[in-house]
Amino acid sequence: MGRIIVLRLGHRKNRDKRITTHVGLVARAFGANGIILSGEWDEDVIKSLKEVCDKWGYRDFEIHYVQDWLEAMISFKQKGWLLVHLTMYGVNIQYYLEEIKRLLVIENKNLLIIVGAEKVPKKVYEIAHFNIAIGNQPHSEVAALAVFLDRLFNGRELLSYFRDAKIQIVPAKNSKKVITRTNT
Ligand code: SAM
Repeated sequence: MGRIIVLRLGHRKNRDKRITTHVGLVARAFGANGIILSGEWDEDVIKSLKEVCDKWGYRDFEIHYVQDWLEAMISFKQKGWLLVHLTMYGVNIQYYLEEIKRLLVIENKNLLIIVGAEKVPKKVYEIAHFNIAIGNQPHSEVAALAVFLDRLFNGRELLSYFRDAKIQIVPAKNSKKVITRTNT
């Protein structure tokens, strides 16, 4: 499978700090290789995502910001990436999941997953190769991204290893166990 990057559109500094951070956390934890933030520039979100990577380890995860999301989408498309826009107005994931997997695995395509905030411009729907709904009810970019990535990887992403972690959980049935490394 090629690279998977999430493009988060329309970040609003005053309203979306927490949810945009969560989009980034889900992207990292559920197997994407990076996030591109767009909308209002917000150093706090970038800083907290970098802090999580630093503390909880790395798994090839890039964090970028672009001002011009349209140019970014066009440029990814021109480079041959597959563009999947997650939207409640799209076609249910079950109809296109196998086709998307085929393009990624057999044709070795890289994937740009686009998620929105409040109102997504019409252009996004037009430029994307697929407008995919995680059900046709409104919910959240965090949930949509998590479900999409989990379906794509069939759950394998939940076993990912994050190298150079300063904190690592020791899975336990009845207690909380963590290993802390201070010299990494
Ligand atoms: N009107 C928006 C839309 O087009 O889906 C809902 C806005 S919602 C607050 C923010 C983002 O969550 C959307 O841009 C979309 O990426 C994602 N989202 C919400 N519900 C979704 C669904 N049922 N399927 C896929 N993505 C969804």
